Amino acid sequence: MTLPQHHDIVVIGAGIAGATIANELLERGKAVCILDSAPLPASACSSHAYAIAHPHVGRGAPRLLRLTHIAFLMAEARWGKVWNQHGIFQPVKKDKPFNYEEFVGHLKVLELSEEIARVLYAEEALRICGIEQDGIWIARGASMNLSSATSEALKPHPQLTCCWSTPVSRLKKVGAGWQLLNHQDEPIMTARKVIITASLETKNLVASVGVRLPLRPVRGQLSIFSVPEHDDWVEKLPKTAISGDGYCLPAKQLLDGSYRWIVGSSFDEGEVDVQDWASSDDANREQAKGLLNYPEGETSHLLKTGSFVGIRCVAGDRLPIIGALTQRPGIFLATALGSRGVLWSALAAKLITAQVLEDDFALLARLGFATDLVAALAPTRFFAGALASEPALGALASNSKPILPSGPKAK
Ligand SMILES: Cc1cc2nc3c(=O)[nH]c(=O)nc-3n(C[C@H](O)[C@H](O)[C@H](O)COP(=O)(O)OP(=O)(O)OC[C@H]3O[C@@H](n4cnc5c(N)ncnc54)[C@H](O)[C@@H]3O)c2cc1C
Repeated sequence: MTLPQHHDIVVIGAGIAGATIANELLERGKAVCILDSAPLPASACSSHAYAIAHPHVGRGAPRLLRLTHIAFLMAEARWGKVWNQHGIFQPVKKDKPFNYEEFVGHLKVLELSEEIARVLYAEEALRICGIEQDGIWIARGASMNLSSATSEALKPHPQLTCCWSTPVSRLKKVGAGWQLLNHQDEPIMTARKVIITASLETKNLVASVGVRLPLRPVRGQLSIFSVPEHDDWVEKLPKTAISGDGYCLPAKQLLDGSYRWIVGSSFDEGEVDVQDWASSDDANREQAKGLLNYPEGETSHLLKTGSFVGIRCVAGDRLPIIGALTQRPGIFLATALGSRGVLWSALAAKLITAQVLEDDFALLARLGFATDLVAALAPTRFFAGALASEPALGALASNSKPILPSGPKAK
C-alpha cells in the first residue's frame, strides 16, 4: 500500500484563481501541488476566452473602487503575454445628466491618472474609439483569455506538481496540517497549508471543517454574433470594448468580410445550467443595442455563431473572499471572484502568498493593502464575533451581511 503524499502547500482548484496563486508561490521559490477534479486546468468558469479588465470607474462603494484600482495594476503587471490592451469605453448612463467637470472630479478622487482613464464628450469619443457617446475612456483597459492565462501560469516547473482528475470531497484536521479525502473517504494527501480556490465547491469543502459561507451561483452567457459585411449594424460596430449594462469586445472583420462580435452577458442569479439558452442570446442582442446606443438596430441581423456559458460564484456582499480562514489555521480561501476573475485572481495571488508565507504587514501595505481592504476581503467578515474569539467546536454560521471595521472615507 502506498501512503498518501504530503505537500507543504496544496491548492485545490486549477481555474484562474488557483493557477495565479500557485504561480506566485512558485515565483517566490516555494514548491506547490495543485489539484483539480477535472482532467485539465481551466475547465470551468475559467474556460472563458473573452474576459475584460478595467478598474471600476463608476459610482460605487469606496472600498470596491480602491480595490479594483489596485487589482487592475496588479493584473496589468502580471499578464504581459496574454494581456490584450485595446482600451475600454464606458458610456455614461443614458438616464443621468452628463456633467463633464463632475466626472473629471470623480476620476481625481479615484486617483486614476489620465493615462488610465479620461472623460470624453461624444465627439471626442467618436474620434478616439468610434463610439458617439459621452463617457469614460479607459485607455489601458484590456481583455484576456482566462484559459490561456491559466495554462501559462501552470506551465511545467520543477517545483510544481499537478494532480488532475482528483476531486476532493472533504478536509480533516491531522496534526499540524490537513488531510484531503476523496468521495470514497480515502485520503488523497496531507498538507501543512491548503488554499481552496474551488469556486462554488469551496462552500462544501469549508462546510466539511464546520464553516458556512454565503456563496451563490450566477449563470452567465456571452454570445458570439456574426454581422454581414453590408449590414446597417456595421458602421455602428465598436473598434474598442464597451463596458456598461453588459459588455462587448471590439468587432473583428473576418476574411469573408463579415464581422465577429462578442456581446454579453446574462446575469442569471441562482442558475447553474451550463446549456446554451436562446433567451440569453436575445437578452444579449438587446444589450448590444443599449451598448451602442442604437435603439433602432434590427436585432435579428445579429446572427449567433457561438457562445460561452459559465457559472460565476458570488458572495452575499459581491466582494471576493480572499484570505486566511483564521478559525481553521492553515486553510486559505480565494473564491467568489464574481465577474472580475482577471482582477481578483491577480490580487489574490499577492494577498494569499503574503499570508501563506507570513510576510510582514509592511510588505502588504507597500502593495496597497491597507488594513480595511484586507478586512473587506477576509473570510472572517461573515462571522459575528469571529475576530474576537474562536469557538473550538461547532459550525461557524455565516451571515450574508459582512461585519467590517469602518474604513477611511473617500477623499
Ligand atoms: C458570462 C461570463 C462573463 C464573464 N466576464 C468576465 C470578464 O469580462 N472579466 C472578468 O474578469 N471575469 C469575467 N467573468 C468571471 C470569470 O470567468 C470568473 O470570475 C473566473 O473564471 C473564476 O475563476 P475561479 O478560478 O474562481 O473558478 P473556476 O474557473 O470555476 O475554477 C474552479 C476550479 O475548481 C475545480 N474544483 C471544483 N470543485 C473541486 C473539488 N471538490 N476538488 C477539486 N477541484 C475542484 C473545478 O474543476 C475548477 O477547475 C465572467 C464569467 C461569466 C460566466
